[in-house]
Amino acid sequence: MTFDVSKNWSIPVPSNSPAVKNAVEDLKRCIKLLADRELDVSAVPQQESAPVIIFNINSGSLEGRGFSWKLGENGLEISGQGEGGLCKGIYDFLSALGFKWPKPIAAGDSFDKEILPPWHEGRIYSIATPQVNKFSAFGGEGLFTGSYKRLVISKKSKTTKALGVPKIRAALMHWAIRNCFDTLVFPFNYLEKAAEECKLYGLVPEAGGWTISSLLKRRLFFFNRELFRMEGGKRQKKAHFCPTNPETLAILRSESKKIFLSAKKIKVFHLWPEKGEENSWCGCPTCRAFSQTDQYRMAVNAVGDALMELYQDRFISILEGPDEEGEIPLRPNIFRINPQGLFSFP
Ligand SMILES: [Zn+2]
Repeated sequence: MTFDVSKNWSIPVPSNSPAVKNAVEDLKRCIKLLADRELDVSAVPQQESAPVIIFNINSGSLEGRGFSWKLGENGLEISGQGEGGLCKGIYDFLSALGFKWPKPIAAGDSFDKEILPPWHEGRIYSIATPQVNKFSAFGGEGLFTGSYKRLVISKKSKTTKALGVPKIRAALMHWAIRNCFDTLVFPFNYLEKAAEECKLYGLVPEAGGWTISSLLKRRLFFFNRELFRMEGGKRQKKAHFCPTNPETLAILRSESKKIFLSAKKIKVFHLWPEKGEENSWCGCPTCRAFSQTDQYRMAVNAVGDALMELYQDRFISILEGPDEEGEIPLRPNIFRINPQGLFSFP
């Protein structure tokens, strides 16, 4: 299958969604780069034989992420399950043409040569997949069933500082949707701004990361050591806590509630073990009876209860490989994410 940019493609201006407009703008810029001329953006093709690009949105929600596209003799049709799905469909088509987005580009900056597909004689581009028609595995029943491609922003101070600059934040979001990510996972302190802005790029905002330890403030260590985990017979300030202590669980519940209440637009919260300390759980006489996996599950279950008291349509994720099987069942609002499927930034 080929895409002939020398033809007079007309691209009707689609819906009012800012995210779709952004993506269509990219599509136009990219085709223009290949065709080396202005494109007709009128709703109706100027000549009857002129090929058209048609956009369809099947439902209005941001969470629908499936898409399909079909290239025929006289047109290209791109469909999405929601705004985000349509955006992904547009960028999937561009990637099939050979476009790449290796790094974020600030708004208004010109496209670098490195995004371009290799030059084609006669401006006829062969398409990587001949007959593409793929809806993502995500069926749209609930966010937690999705096989989302998640980009997790690190909570390193350098990164969060950079994200404080609106231009950098926007460039990162644009880069994420250009690379067909579904979700950006922000540290808890970034939620207000991020949630609104994600919509402009067709991304779903989520919160958290490798951050379950932050629910128990480390300054409590001096006077409340029994809240913390034991290793080698001593309580340790670093990483996690003692999850069989009812007081620890009460603190996890109340601290997480504060976060849930301040992040009203977020539907999924990620509460993962400290990076590199996944196996640092408690060795106190009570905890010793439980595996690392189950200790983690006990803690997250307490947070799951707190979330359920506030909202019935929100979820928590835990990071657990397919080979880690816990004995303790998880609350219905908790789902597992395989660490292999994550991308982190930077
Ligand atoms: Zn313990």
